[in-house]
Amino acid sequence: CFVEDNTDIIMEGALIARDRVGVQDFVLLDSHTSEAAFLNNLRKRYQENLIYTYIGTLLVSVNPYKELDIYTVTQMQLYRGVNFFELPPHLYAIADNAYRVMCSEYNNHFILISGESGAGKTEASKKILQYYAVTCPTTEQLQVVRDRLLLSNPVLEAFGNAKTLRNDNSSRFGKYMDIQFDFKGAPVGGHILSYLIEKSRVVHQNHGERNFHIFYQLLEGGEKDLLCWLGLERNPQKYAYLIQGRCAKVFSINDKNDWKIVRKAFSIIDFTEKDLEVWKSKVHPVDGNLLLPILRAVFVSLQLLGVHLSILQEALTHRKIEARSEEVLSPLNVDLAFYARDAVAKAIYGRTFTWLVNKINGSLANKDSTRKTVIGLLDIYGFEVLDTNSFEQFCINYCNEKLQQLLIEMTLKAEQEEYEMEGIEWEPIPYFNNKIICDLVEQKHKGIISILDEECLRPGEATDLSFLEKLEEKVGDHAHFVTRKLADQKTRKSIDWVDFRLLHYAGEVTYCAVGECDRGAALEVLCNSKNGIIRDCFLLSELDSRRRPETVATQFKNSLMSLIEILMSKEPSYIRCIKPNENKEPGMFDDCLIRHQVKYLGLMEHLRVRRAGFAYRRKYEHFLQRYKSLCPATWPHWHGPAAEGVERLIKHIGYKPEEYKLGRTKIFIRFPKTLFATEDAFEIRK
Ligand code: ADP
Ligand code: MG
Repeated sequence: CFVEDNTDIIMEGALIARDRVGVQDFVLLDSHTSEAAFLNNLRKRYQENLIYTYIGTLLVSVNPYKELDIYTVTQMQLYRGVNFFELPPHLYAIADNAYRVMCSEYNNHFILISGESGAGKTEASKKILQYYAVTCPTTEQLQVVRDRLLLSNPVLEAFGNAKTLRNDNSSRFGKYMDIQFDFKGAPVGGHILSYLIEKSRVVHQNHGERNFHIFYQLLEGGEKDLLCWLGLERNPQKYAYLIQGRCAKVFSINDKNDWKIVRKAFSIIDFTEKDLEVWKSKVHPVDGNLLLPILRAVFVSLQLLGVHLSILQEALTHRKIEARSEEVLSPLNVDLAFYARDAVAKAIYGRTFTWLVNKINGSLANKDSTRKTVIGLLDIYGFEVLDTNSFEQFCINYCNEKLQQLLIEMTLKAEQEEYEMEGIEWEPIPYFNNKIICDLVEQKHKGIISILDEECLRPGEATDLSFLEKLEEKVGDHAHFVTRKLADQKTRKSIDWVDFRLLHYAGEVTYCAVGECDRGAALEVLCNSKNGIIRDCFLLSELDSRRRPETVATQFKNSLMSLIEILMSKEPSYIRCIKPNENKEPGMFDDCLIRHQVKYLGLMEHLRVRRAGFAYRRKYEHFLQRYKSLCPATWPHWHGPAAEGVERLIKHIGYKPEEYKLGRTKIFIRFPKTLFATEDAFEIRK
């Protein structure tokens, strides 16, 4: 009687605790898979600073917007080699699991980190990299690789991140980084793929946003000699490209300090002073006069760009027109000349960014030819809806569609394959397949990108409007496509402009049709530059008129296709990041905002899939190891096959036949409740 009373008290304690901090795996939620219960659990945990929760093996993370004491070296050690479910959910558990499977099965992995801007993707990917840097075996020789892997981050962030309204350190490019491991599990090299840097930011920033960090770091922290050599003044107000958002100085950012870190990183990654020079070419001075800024820009950057003033000036203020096999130069008006100037700045930034990534890759490359396994970290821009959505948002959102599709396919596929492999019957679950949207964008001849390509091949004739007309004609009746025609406000007659809208899996987005067809008049000038870096970036072969140039959209599509291929060949892990509020505020849980993310991240679908089959599965060995104390026959040791031990164990604790199935190597438990009860019994026994 006494013992029973005591059990009740302990039981109650456990329930109260669960009530307060929620469950660490959504699969364990008692109530059916309602969104309210899901949010409730997430909220409870968030308020207790428990920012991580599993859905099976997928990790959901909510940005705490404050420093938590869970990323210490002690914590890292704690998660090393420990089974997934035995510690509170953590990034480290995901990282460690991928690593351990890689070491034991000698296969390749990736960790896909997704979520919208400011949700914590980049922080997560950095923390995982740190985890490997600290916990993996290493040698003195490999220290350099380790440092380079870690320091590639501040460099890429300086050039690829910027302050936006959503995030003070927003990544403006997509990043996939392979960490290569040798057979001992030591990190020996790396390789980075970058996707579509947001070039438009170089020439334009919205109110409250900045250009890329590096410019402000350079001006604020750059050594006097360096600035002098680059011919720059310290005051960012002098540079029109840097102050359009009217916030050159940001409270939360220490540009001076960041510059020091970048400088150190530069030296470790093996950059020379000479390599720095190219960056100068992207800052241009303010001037009241309309045409002067162009010329001043040309003046300032001329020496570094390594081109002739008169030649560049001509290129920026004229357009080449081909008339009966003859080339004629026709002057541009001021607006178009500005446009040409900006196009050059953007092209230089975009290409030198790629150059920089290649340079880093050179320093991370492992040259020995022994076989290596990799863990890839994918930190890619999240779904984005701005007030004005242009080509860049179109690409970003298309990318998210592709990754969503990959996740759906891989989780469902993995699930079904596992049941099949284990010899268990399984009824597939319906889910929204966003393939239909991917097709709308990428299908050959019929998709939006193909239509854009066709338009780009009609130089001089194609306009944004003709592009939209083509879209209307070819995909106008697609279920996920809508065009909008607006009448001119004054005349009320003519159609003034048109935009188009896509119904993405994550919501509706209206895009303005801003063409990316323009290849820039100055291409030829840049290809002939005396500056080696610029020449590396603008290859003369591009000028060959017989070559059909690939449009930016097609390039992006192809790079995404190969990314998907890379990922498909690897074992996946997923981290879904959630942004708790729009104010970057700790502790604030905005229900509405979070519900929306839960919805479009497909978390409920994921949970449903997870629960429709068997909520839990565990290798016989692990299950037995954990719960063997619950059965006299298996405690303290079981000497027979693990599967048999598990059978004895569950018989003893009274699992009903409908509650579980025994596969070839694993036990599958249908209801979370069952496992929950077992877990409780185990806790009490402890
Ligand atoms: P994303 O890459 O998804 O746009 P970031 O990873 O840059 O978002 O996160 C935005 C900001 O949120 C970071 O600069 C940091 O201030 C905060 N943050 C994100 N994750 C964490 C975390 N795990 N702990 C503390 N702060 C975080
Ligand atoms: Mg980021």
